[in-house]
Amino acid sequence: MLDDYKDTQNTAYSILSNAINKNRISHAYLIETLGSNDGFDFALAFAKALLCPEGKMNKKKCNNCNQCKLIDDNNYIELEIVETDDLWLKKENIDKLQKDFNFKPIVGKRKIYIIKNADKIRESLANTLLKFIEEPEEGIIAILVTDNKSKILETIISRCQVISLKNYSLSFYLDSDKYSDDLINNIIKFINFYEQNKLETIVFSNSLFHDYMKDRNDYLLAFNIILMYYNDILNYKLNGKFTNFENYIEDYRIINKLSIESILKKINLVIKLKKKILNNVNLNLLIDKLVISFKKVDNNDLC
Ligand SMILES: [Zn+2]
Repeated sequence: MLDDYKDTQNTAYSILSNAINKNRISHAYLIETLGSNDGFDFALAFAKALLCPEGKMNKKKCNNCNQCKLIDDNNYIELEIVETDDLWLKKENIDKLQKDFNFKPIVGKRKIYIIKNADKIRESLANTLLKFIEEPEEGIIAILVTDNKSKILETIISRCQVISLKNYSLSFYLDSDKYSDDLINNIIKFINFYEQNKLETIVFSNSLFHDYMKDRNDYLLAFNIILMYYNDILNYKLNGKFTNFENYIEDYRIINKLSIESILKKINLVIKLKKKILNNVNLNLLIDKLVISFKKVDNNDLC
């Protein structure tokens, strides 16, 4: 839910929640993620807040209405996500979108499309898209997502309301009064322990990890720190520099052995499992799952 970003993305949250509550919704948004791993999830949470018939966000958290469930399963007809693994979005992608969004919403009052990696729109395609973004049918909202708006054509930017997310560094968490340094240090110790001892981590997961966690928010913090850790290792492998964890890596030989592919796989796993924290899963099992999945990635790395 959008409410989950109340603290971590407070500026973006206030702008958008205010717009929803006052019913002043733009017809196009560009969400700039600036390296924040939450980017697409944030866009989806915003779309959900716009589509959920339970309505205004601050009054009631909704994750249980039919629409929200369908959205979670990627099955809601009034929400379309456009993405591609190719270098550029294809004309077919946009043609399909235009066909699907050529009429008003059938269920509810709004119909939304999210274009993931909007920087994959080339100039020739942008021209087709511009009018569509600018003069949509009633109730249609575009959400474009990019990691950096400097990659987006000016003509597109000028038609969207730009929302920039914050990307936190480790020092942000360490300096914040909200999170204890002990908790953060223990999360780092846990992930360092995993990289040195692998599957054995499960045996010690209580004393290494769960004993320090008070609630789901602590687990969310842990997953954010773990994400940052692997992003930092990736940065180190690619550019030879750490942004956050230089003083925390206990064994460089292990880090050096990790392949870029396996680091990317771990990052994706953390993002995937982090989503489950909010869905009332058993958190002990979730951490076991994280360790086992990491180990599988590492096994493949060895062959
Ligand atoms: Zn709902």
